Amino acid sequence: MRATVFHGTRDVRIEEVPDATLREPTDALVRVTHACICGSDLWPYRGELLIYGENGRMGHEFMGVVEAVGAEVRTLSPGDRVIAPFAFSDGVCEYCSAGLHTSCVQGGYWGAANDGGQGEAVRAPLADGTLVKLPDEVDLSDTRLATAIATLTDVCGTGHHAAVSSGIGPGGTAVVVGDGAVGLCGVLAASRLGADRIIIMGRHDARLDVARRFGATDEVRERGEEGIARVRELTGGGAAHVLECVGTPQATETAIAVCRPRGTVGHVGVPAEPIGLMDVYNRNITLRGGVAPVRAYIPELLEDVLAGRIDPSPVLDMTVSLDEVPEGYAAMDERRAIKTLVAVS
Ligand SMILES: [Zn+2]
Repeated sequence: MRATVFHGTRDVRIEEVPDATLREPTDALVRVTHACICGSDLWPYRGELLIYGENGRMGHEFMGVVEAVGAEVRTLSPGDRVIAPFAFSDGVCEYCSAGLHTSCVQGGYWGAANDGGQGEAVRAPLADGTLVKLPDEVDLSDTRLATAIATLTDVCGTGHHAAVSSGIGPGGTAVVVGDGAVGLCGVLAASRLGADRIIIMGRHDARLDVARRFGATDEVRERGEEGIARVRELTGGGAAHVLECVGTPQATETAIAVCRPRGTVGHVGVPAEPIGLMDVYNRNITLRGGVAPVRAYIPELLEDVLAGRIDPSPVLDMTVSLDEVPEGYAAMDERRAIKTLVAVS
């Protein structure tokens, strides 16, 4: 089968690799129909965080059709269309039962030594606990709907996790740091949770347009000290709920700085480097969040997508074929695309 393989900085290739096959009785074999390229895939692409290892398989966002299941799979059968969260999990352990599937005692991540999502097929371990079956009536030939559903594999749930972790609720004010796909989904999530005012910190016109469509009421294009001062001015000293959606030290320090004393920062960006905690300490700020247990959120978000209550599809503003995946990476790396959808089959 063909799949995306990491070869080095800005060097990803589509190659013939061994076919995905069932190995454990709890596995399912999924033929990938749609995959996405993630902002966090850009870390290895830029030669920074090698999350996929040398010559590792790439991609952790995919959906598709079940081709085969192992003898112990109970809830899925061949022909089912499924969404895969970006981590696999058993769904029954202490952590999965508490909605923290990313800490599953048996869980793990796609890609590297496992099949990656940016390929023709994936062996899905712990299939019953991991994969979410789409209702039969869902029409995936509706491209907009299929695109919206594809965001549930990661970014939509990750933006939601930032909002939930920030503690935003009806009538509140939220600040969103970062106008990438996760930040934009953070705006959508804060709006869905009833925020009255949503201030987005970002400066790319096309992305800010999407933010406004998702419910942003104010935008702050300034960065650094200027941006912090502007947000404090708009909020009378900082917001009680802040969503950190990038992960860089600068973004995290900005998120903390625009937070009100005793406020909460919901952080979901991959923290590539350590940050100082003095400001957190001095102003009793709560840092909450981390890697998003999107498996826990898929059912409620899928319901809202299917009911048309939310439409996250605008964050996937570029579509490529499997062979064009390298161009999909380059477009995101050069900010010509917010996020790339891969139409595999
Ligand atoms: Zn578990």
